[in-house]
Parts: sequence; C-alpha cells; structure tokens
Amino acid sequence: LNHRPRPGLTGSPLERADHIRTDEEALAKVCGDLRARLLRLDDLDPEVDPLGALGWCSLADCPDGCELLFLGLDQGVPCFAALDEAAPSAGQGAYRVWRHLDMLDPAHAATYAAARGLIEWHRRHLHCGRCGTRTRIAKGGWSRACADCGTEQFPRVDPVVIMLAEHDGEALVGRQPRFPPDRYSALAGFVEPGESLEEAARREVLEESGIRVGRVRYQASQPWPFPGSLMIGLLGEAESTEIVVDRTELEDARWFDRDEVCAMLADRHPDGLKVPPAMAIAHHLIRAAVEG
Ligand SMILES: [Zn+2]
Repeated sequence: LNHRPRPGLTGSPLERADHIRTDEEALAKVCGDLRARLLRLDDLDPEVDPLGALGWCSLADCPDGCELLFLGLDQGVPCFAALDEAAPSAGQGAYRVWRHLDMLDPAHAATYAAARGLIEWHRRHLHCGRCGTRTRIAKGGWSRACADCGTEQFPRVDPVVIMLAEHDGEALVGRQPRFPPDRYSALAGFVEPGESLEEAARREVLEESGIRVGRVRYQASQPWPFPGSLMIGLLGEAESTEIVVDRTELEDARWFDRDEVCAMLADRHPDGLKVPPAMAIAHHLIRAAVEG
C-alpha cells in the first residue's frame, strides 16, 4: 500500500486572520488592497485550471448584489468569496462537485472547502433563529447579526461521527442506497444533543448494523462542506459479530477480512467492490485499520 496522505479538504494555506474580521478599519483596508482576489465560482462549483489550481479574479469582478466574505490571507494576499444571498443552498445533493475536487490540488481543495462551507452556512442562516428577522453579514462574513433582537450567529459545523468497527482482523463496512455502485464505506451519522462522540458512534453502529462497539479511538477528522459537516473519524472495537442491517439506512453491511479490504483499497477486488476515494476520511479509516 502507498504511504498515507492526510484526508482531503484539509491543509489550506490560508491564514484566517481573525483580528481583521473584527476590526472595521483593517477590513476596509484588505477590501481596498489592490492584490485582493475573489474566488471564481460557478454557483458553488470551483473553476479549476489544468494544473489543479483554483481560479481567482479581482474584487472588481464581484457580481452586483453579492456580499464579500473575507476568507483570510494567502501569503499576505487578502482572499474573498462572493455571497449571493438569493441563491439556494445546494445541500447534500451536490455530487457534481466531485469531479472538480478530484482535479484540484489538495491545498486548493481545502481553501475551496472553507469558502463553500461558509457560503452554504450563510445561505441557510439568512434569518434570525430566535425572532425570524432577516439578518445581516457582520465580521467580514464570519457572523450574522439580527438588528431586531440583537442575536448574533456564527458559522457552525455539524459534527458527524464516522466509525470503522473492527473485530478479529475484520472490518465492518456498509453501503447506503445513494452510494455509487459497489462502494462500501464506514458507518456514519450525526451527533445528537447530549452525546459524546464515542456514544454517538456506538449508537449509530448499533442502529445501522446491530453491532455493539466497546473501546473507541480517534483517528482523524475532515471538514465536509456539503453543506456543513465536520467528519470525525473513529476506529472502534466490536464486541459482537452478528449483523442486523437497518434497511431504512443501509442497503448492506458486512465484515470484510484484511485481504479483501486491501484488494478494495488497491481497486482489484474480485467482485469489483470499492472503498471511497483517498479524499474521503472513510478511505483513511479503512487504510488505518488494515495497517494496524
Ligand atoms: Zn432576532
């Protein structure tokens, strides 16, 4: 197996420069910086050049009616994205972006993910969650403020646990009906109020597969801006082996032994079964399991 790269959508070179967001004068200065650049987007999709770099233009090209979101500084150069509040959120059904992500340089993909996640958050939080009044952008795009009741809301991510359960050299993977054909992945679900990550992961695996998990250990995490998740990758020790698939969530769940998992990672499983691509954290969990 190849050496293990980090999960995709991480490792952006952007310095987020929080001190600028909260300083009106400094914010005006970066907006007026002649080097400042605006991320080129086709709605929410990136423009990617043949070398895998993101496309940028000048702030003067910001479309009418759009607001600027200050992404941060790239080697001192202010970087922005444009927010069109009238455009809808793409939500989860955003698969056309995948072909772009495959082409993007990993660091550029991470910058894109930050911009996309921020834009998606704004599009889904245009109104105050407390009184329903339309809110306005504040802090360079890192907050929305309600002029009516004074509530300020901040860009948030939803924690999702994704866990690979292991038992006696075998790994538990499943497939959702919406997955590409023949793809299997680690089981995942949203963390609910009142749960630790470990508890959420154990509950999800039990609900979806009937497998009880004991010890859980953290492996890695990854932002997932489709539309606003943080994937928290865990490995768990299964304490039972009999699978009962929850058909409302999964099409199938199975134990795969090490040889099969290695074959899937190398894309040479005899039945053509596959694991998610290296960009996805599930790939790294599965790789970590076979590499011990
Ligand atoms: Zn309000």
